[in-house]
Amino acid sequence: MVFNSSIRYLDKRLTVDEIDIEAIVNEVGTPAYLYSLARMRRNFHRLRTAFASVNARLHFSVKANGNLDVLRALDAVGAGFDCVSGGEIYRVLEAGAVADDIVFAGVGKTRAELAYAIKNGVGWINVENVGELALIDQLAGDANGKAVRVALRLNPEVTALTHPHMATGHGAAKFGMTADVIRDLLDRPEAYPRIRFAGIHMHIGSQLGDLSATLAALDKLLALTTDYPWINAINLGGGLPVAYRFNEAIAAPDQLAVQLSHRLKGYDVLLEPGRAIVADAGLLVAEALYVKRQAGQTFVVVDASMAELIRPALYGAHHEIVPLRQIEGDTVTTQVVGPVCESADLLGADRELPPLKPGDKVALMTAGAYGMTMASNYNARPRPVEAVVDGERWWVSRRRETYADLLRNEV
Ligand SMILES: *Cc1c(COP(=O)(O)O)cnc(C)c1O
Repeated sequence: MVFNSSIRYLDKRLTVDEIDIEAIVNEVGTPAYLYSLARMRRNFHRLRTAFASVNARLHFSVKANGNLDVLRALDAVGAGFDCVSGGEIYRVLEAGAVADDIVFAGVGKTRAELAYAIKNGVGWINVENVGELALIDQLAGDANGKAVRVALRLNPEVTALTHPHMATGHGAAKFGMTADVIRDLLDRPEAYPRIRFAGIHMHIGSQLGDLSATLAALDKLLALTTDYPWINAINLGGGLPVAYRFNEAIAAPDQLAVQLSHRLKGYDVLLEPGRAIVADAGLLVAEALYVKRQAGQTFVVVDASMAELIRPALYGAHHEIVPLRQIEGDTVTTQVVGPVCESADLLGADRELPPLKPGDKVALMTAGAYGMTMASNYNARPRPVEAVVDGERWWVSRRRETYADLLRNEV
């Protein structure tokens, strides 16, 4: 499903929580990201309910959407946060979250980032290599001598069936440590006196429809926790799938939870969902600039591009594209392209769309995750505005960048 209880047509107009999107973009312009906070809360509650039997703690993966209003809304309903950089920790703290609710993950944390995380007292550090442990141990001593709670990231050497760029759990991936390395560490925890080894972490990829890889990885993880029973926390990472296409069926979170829960009984369980909380709560609105017929094809050039939404260019990802005003009648096979000077700047190939004319507006659906966080200034394009809808209200959460913003840091 691409439309949902928050993002749907009412009286032939696309709406976010019953607010006409055209009314919003008439004020804020295009391209514009819009988010429904109600939908994000609902997705969060749905996951929490699904995993209630193991009392899972949900840490929202900030790299999916770092908007401060989004972070505040999720903090208010009890989410923790999964950060992969010092910058993300900074954003989360600025949003008002408690440092103890932060998990700090990442393959290449710098000394400065680790020192920043430890100084602020983040709840967990997910460690991905042995060298990092010595550094954490030293920095913990410099800071206050308090033990730092650590989860070791297991590379389970299983390959998830997803886009190759989204698979992170195979042996050849740069992520995590293999089980034998983790065993060596857990055999002599006293080598790191200021580290409290408390959990094992895994995250084998994103858009994981295929539960068998997750179960195989979890079994490898449980082999470790069985041999080291003083490890009582399991962090399963993120990766819960989202439907990007009309009528695409994906496993509901409670179905996934049922298959995992009995194996997790007795452990403190953490999850790091990103996409599953925010993707279908957001969209990117663009305006058609030009329509041209060329080489037997119809091109609609819109004012959004791979700079605002890189997923199609980066992963060959599919985002449904729909007009803001539902128009009856024959559709045209349309190539929806952006203005950026790259052939990869193709937002939608061979889409059946009503005949669009300049000035018509379309929405790129399911763009609430890995949209704005991956946006760039390529082609010196100011990054787009972000607006949030909360119940009957909406507001500009992050203003559109200006040309002056493009030069801000140049000396
Ligand atoms: C990206 C990432 C996540 C979130 O993945 P989703 O597919 O958005 O749920 C969780 N944990 C880690 C370690 C990640 O790198």
